[in-house]
Amino acid sequence: MVKRRDFIKWAGATGIGFAAGAFDMLALADTKSSSFVPVIPTNTGIKGNVVVIGGGMAGATVAKYLRYWGGTGVTVTLIERDSTYASNIMSNLVLNGSRTMSSLQYGYGKLASSYGVKIVKGDVVGIDKVGRKVALASGASYAYDRLVIAPGVDFDIIPGLETAAAQAKVPHAWKAGPQTTALRNMITAMPSGGVFVMTIPAKPYRCPPGPYERACVVADWLKRNRPGSKVIVLDANPEIIAEKHSFEEGFALNGVTYVPNVIINNVDASTLTVNTNQGNFRGNVLNVIPPHRAGKVITANGLADAGGKWTNVDVLSYEAKVAPGIHVIGDASATTQPKAGHIANQEAKVCADAILRMFSGRAVDQAPVTNSACYSPITFETASWLTVTFAYDPVSQTMKAVPASAGEASARSKDNFEEMNKWFTALMGDTFA
Ligand SMILES: Cc1cc2nc3c(=O)[nH]c(=O)nc-3n(C[C@H](O)[C@H](O)[C@H](O)COP(=O)(O)OP(=O)(O)OC[C@H]3O[C@@H](n4cnc5c(N)ncnc54)[C@H](O)[C@@H]3O)c2cc1C
Repeated sequence: MVKRRDFIKWAGATGIGFAAGAFDMLALADTKSSSFVPVIPTNTGIKGNVVVIGGGMAGATVAKYLRYWGGTGVTVTLIERDSTYASNIMSNLVLNGSRTMSSLQYGYGKLASSYGVKIVKGDVVGIDKVGRKVALASGASYAYDRLVIAPGVDFDIIPGLETAAAQAKVPHAWKAGPQTTALRNMITAMPSGGVFVMTIPAKPYRCPPGPYERACVVADWLKRNRPGSKVIVLDANPEIIAEKHSFEEGFALNGVTYVPNVIINNVDASTLTVNTNQGNFRGNVLNVIPPHRAGKVITANGLADAGGKWTNVDVLSYEAKVAPGIHVIGDASATTQPKAGHIANQEAKVCADAILRMFSGRAVDQAPVTNSACYSPITFETASWLTVTFAYDPVSQTMKAVPASAGEASARSKDNFEEMNKWFTALMGDTFA
């Protein structure tokens, strides 16, 4: 079990900036500092044309490292529907006012200017798997030798929340952006003695500790600013699924009511009431996080072979099992690893490495290692953490957790909160700069 003093060592060695098996180990160079100026190699001899759909944690990283490791002979086109990326990571801290949404925005300028990634603003709607090209809503199309899809998640529709008006009254705020700001405004408008009700979908969903983290930071804010208020957590899972010890303590500290095994029947947005197998729960604010599935570009293009929701991949390359030449990384793929930004960054590096080896006629690495690391704020000034390393298991052909690498904080602390900010800066720098 990893202890706190070893956590940064693990995250540094196998986490940010390096996934074992990375192409020719070039990732050991430090790309995290803002003054870092990358040299894109001109002499690798590798040639290829990659289109990447989605410029989030996985897509931005794979685009960057394809150029950084592969060199100028590798053409990389990153197609993203938004002008800037809003980080989900740390967005729970917008809810307690300790961060702003503008502090969580990341642009694509450095990927273009320093790494030579071609950035296209657009929405990919179609994939021609035989002709190897993608179609945008604008009518434009882009040909590829290999396609990487990293669209993140979409959400199932909860009965009662079919309309945009109902969704505006009951935001999930599980994709950072306007809904995050809306939820923050609803929380600050709560009266003292008010009730905040939130729901958690059955796993797998993005960021296993994230909803419990949200309950803790909201409860902490209400305790200090709206005395007598309470937070009720309705969880579809049978128990807290990550950092149980830290969140149980956080719930006890701020009087959070936790209800497991909750099945939602429907939501009444006009009365902010959720009807469940365990009765009706009404709040001054209702935050329903729906079950997830891969982004629509996956489900609409015949790539959701895992339960109709996710894409099964070969974790040596993240190539889709149903579609040769197409790789799926980040939240949209079905693997044994958590759906999380840090892991998305890691999967992207393994994928970039594999594509470059394929372009140069080499076998893909047979022993990839990835690392997941996560800090969770519990109050406005304390945090806990969780980490685990995964190694490829040739028997099950999956990424398996390495027991000796797994660890979590023994207690929340201010130290952890400071280290959380350093970890976040490094992760986002490795992804976007
Ligand atoms: C509140 C919260 C807290 C979190 N905290 C943490 C944390 O502490 N640590 C951690 O590791 N993870 C955390 N996560 C999870 C993390 O944010 C996700 O796992 C991660 O963002 C997944 O990366 P991705 O690249 O798969 O998807 P995303 O980062 O969502 O990126 C997908 C991108 O694809 C674009 N896109 C989608 N479809 C198309 C299309 N058809 N055409 C063009 N562009 C498209 C989208 O606009 C988006 O920019 C948190 C999540 C939430 C909600």
